[in-house]
Amino acid sequence: MRYAVLGTGIVGRTIAGKLAALGHEVAIGTRDVEVTLARTEPDAYGNPPIAQWLAQHTQVRLLSFADVATFGETVVNTTEGAASLQALEAAGRDNLAGKILIDIANPLDFSAGMPPSLNPVNTDSLGEQIQRTFPELKVVKTLNTMNAAIMVEPSRVTGEHNVFVSGNDTGAKKFVSELLTSFGWPEGSVIDLGDITTARGTEMLLPIWLRLWGALGHADFNFHIQGARTGA
Ligand code: NAP
Repeated sequence: MRYAVLGTGIVGRTIAGKLAALGHEVAIGTRDVEVTLARTEPDAYGNPPIAQWLAQHTQVRLLSFADVATFGETVVNTTEGAASLQALEAAGRDNLAGKILIDIANPLDFSAGMPPSLNPVNTDSLGEQIQRTFPELKVVKTLNTMNAAIMVEPSRVTGEHNVFVSGNDTGAKKFVSELLTSFGWPEGSVIDLGDITTARGTEMLLPIWLRLWGALGHADFNFHIQGARTGA
């Protein structure tokens, strides 16, 4: 399967690295390949420039958002939440048409400083905004409720814990659930919350996630829903 991962941050790198390790063809998308490759400073979160990461992952290519969307049969959104719609516009409606979009982004709003708030929130979500703006995409929101390392290595957290999926297309959710299984998520750990409006619920876990991160002093934790019996 050919995967397009939109986003050069730690989430994009982590997902792209895992997909490549599983034998998929993977390319990462960015606004401007030349500009991104010319970066020499760590990003806002202290991650080394992506050129260093690409040198260690030679099977993963860096392309423009439009070229990567053309390349990918399935698309993963790991861009900054406030910029995801812009990134998808740059990817190009025609290049995305009919594809599954796995949306991992969170609509964090840093305009009033730390900790960030959410925008949209309560009566809307980024997952819904993307689905409304790009009705030709099959959007599945997932993996946004945990640290990047856990997404592809759930065994970092001991004991049972859960990952959520939200989306309107049953077939797309089944596809994504199988991908999650290939990442190491036991079948029973995947909870299908329902249609894309349920992304409000997982995006609104971020305020508590961020406080837990502060209180625990590390990010190797996740939510476990005691009493959950359902797989997606
Ligand atoms: P990030 O720094 O939030 O996002 C980086 C990406 O956003 C880059 O590819 C960048 O493009 C793109 N971007 C920024 N401004 C843009 C604009 N104006 N137009 C188009 N694209 C723009 O990366 P991250 O920390 O890996 O997080 C990715 C997403 O996952 C976020 O939505 C975050 O909330 C969510 N998330 C993160 C974690 C985590 O563990 N960090 C966990 C769960 C969910 P360029 O490549 O061109 O610079």
